Amino acid sequence: MNKITRDQIELLIELQQKEAEVTQVQRCLDELPAKIDQISSGLKEFEGAITIKKESLSELKKVYRSYDAEIEANSARIKKREEQLHAVTTNKEYQALLKEIEEIKKANSRIEDQTIACLDEIDAVEKEVKEKEEEFMSEEAEVNEQKVVFESDADSERRSLDALLVQRDEVAATIDPELIKQYELIKSYARDIAIVQVKDCICMGCNMNIPPQMYNELHRENEMKTCPHCHRMLYVIQ
Ligand SMILES: [Zn+2]
Repeated sequence: MNKITRDQIELLIELQQKEAEVTQVQRCLDELPAKIDQISSGLKEFEGAITIKKESLSELKKVYRSYDAEIEANSARIKKREEQLHAVTTNKEYQALLKEIEEIKKANSRIEDQTIACLDEIDAVEKEVKEKEEEFMSEEAEVNEQKVVFESDADSERRSLDALLVQRDEVAATIDPELIKQYELIKSYARDIAIVQVKDCICMGCNMNIPPQMYNELHRENEMKTCPHCHRMLYVIQ
């Protein structure tokens, strides 16, 4: 076992504390892209819904134009039949033309009704699109504001990460290299926790009892001891 002083134990604890802080800050930074994605995803869905509405609006306008073209074609047909009326020689032909003109007028009247309904629908959908677009813009502004806050938080986290890394290195530089090596090794298999407190004979790393004699020896703080179960370095608070 390594010979050790209380100072070295305290420095190892401090090192572990700094490293835990580094991990925590790093985790926050790593989560940032997902957080930004999350607040932007609602916006994307919203945008998609508006696009679908706009597509249905353009379909409605197409229908409207086709009605309009039909009415115009029918009007031309009526005009032509009316001209033909002057040229007919028999009453039968005259009546037939009149009947035809009447049929075309009826058809046009039906199409006009459909056109009015179509225009009403266009108005309603246009109004809806406009409202949705306004709503989208205000949501987008909110999301952008939120992103600025996230970015500024991330900046300060990056700064504190840099400072923590410097502090961590400063602490590490004051610890016996052999002890650091042992610490790193334990950290690599003990889920990042290499040094743990022993309370009432119980290792706080694995919650198992350590031999009472070892517990007594730990109070001398002159030797680095490791838990017989989880192999972490041990210390006591006196
Ligand atoms: Zn243990």
